[in-house]
Amino acid sequence: MTVAAQPTPSGAPPPTAKVRPVPQGVAAVPDRQPGRLAAWLLGAVGGKGDRTYRLRLLVQAGFALGCVLLGIQFARFTRAAAAGELPLPARPPGVEGFLPISGMMGLLDWFYQGTLNRVHPAATMLFLVIVAVAFVARKSFCSWICPVGLLSESLARLGRKVFGRNFRPWKWLDVPLRGLKYLVLFFFLQAIVGMSDASLRAFIESPYNRVADVKMGLFFVRLGPVGGGVILTLFVLSILVHGAWCRYLCPYGALLGLISRFSPMRVERHADACVDCGLCDKVCMARLPVSRRSGISSVECTGCLDCVATCPVDGALQVKAVRRWRLSVPAYALAVLILFLGGYSAARLAGHWHSDLSDAEYAYRIRNLDRPEYGHPGS
Ligand code: SF4
Ligand code: SF4
Repeated sequence: MTVAAQPTPSGAPPPTAKVRPVPQGVAAVPDRQPGRLAAWLLGAVGGKGDRTYRLRLLVQAGFALGCVLLGIQFARFTRAAAAGELPLPARPPGVEGFLPISGMMGLLDWFYQGTLNRVHPAATMLFLVIVAVAFVARKSFCSWICPVGLLSESLARLGRKVFGRNFRPWKWLDVPLRGLKYLVLFFFLQAIVGMSDASLRAFIESPYNRVADVKMGLFFVRLGPVGGGVILTLFVLSILVHGAWCRYLCPYGALLGLISRFSPMRVERHADACVDCGLCDKVCMARLPVSRRSGISSVECTGCLDCVATCPVDGALQVKAVRRWRLSVPAYALAVLILFLGGYSAARLAGHWHSDLSDAEYAYRIRNLDRPEYGHPGS
């Protein structure tokens, strides 16, 4: 199937528009194409969209693999600490990326005290790096780096395989549901900002926070019926509704979306070249009406670039920096990677990465985790 170039509103054909064949199966919602596992892994969209999807999947899979390796090393560390086997295997500071609240508190504490805390410095540095990525390249962290984003997209694809489509809540329900993540974000922000400098530092140095990484890991290992039920519900919802967690509940994504409003990069649509095929609307995971906008500045845009990749007309959709410089999809991906990995490397070089907690302290605290002082200070 191909799309013929339509006349522009002025009646003249688009002078430079090169129309490509419309990729088969681009209608990600619904996607009824039967396929093999490999086709599913590589994405069902064809042509340029397919290659871009594979590039994004490769980047996402690389970061997800990194997280799995971090998890395995952290499990070795925790097990050895619980058994008192000193010296402990190296603790991977990257696990602090899963402590964004601690990262935010560390940032405010850094502002108050003038020094970065030595309990979870990597949590603050990773939070800063992710915020910087959003400032420059929108919510690309969500669609290119975050392992939860990859899991969420994969579950939605599974849903399309099983049910032939993902379900979309009615607009009257979708809009207030999207507001939930901002409420959760507001709850955390007001709690953190409302703390005095002394209580902030006391929390950071508290026994609870010193082992917050271990407690978080054990939460998933020792899932009780409530925690297990919540996670199972989120899994099922993510299969039925594309991005149920990311779109409605994730406060981190909400924060990055708000910050992305300041980003100099955005997808722009050139109406003269557009042939109104509507493919961009169909593939947009944020469900934005791309084909009816001149530029996408929405806080919901994840910078996945699926719309740019799928558009059958060269130049109709472009990523632009400060509305002037056009970026290809690989160049955009490279910019995101350089920002993230550059920030990570800078944190290491600056000595803001490793915690000062000794092996002996970790072993002592992990062996006494059930004591009351390791409960949340606010509880
Ligand atoms: S507008 Fe384009 S880049 Fe933004 S979320 Fe939708 S498909 Fe992705
Ligand atoms: S911008 Fe959207 S509607 Fe226009 S040609 Fe590209 S995919 Fe089709």
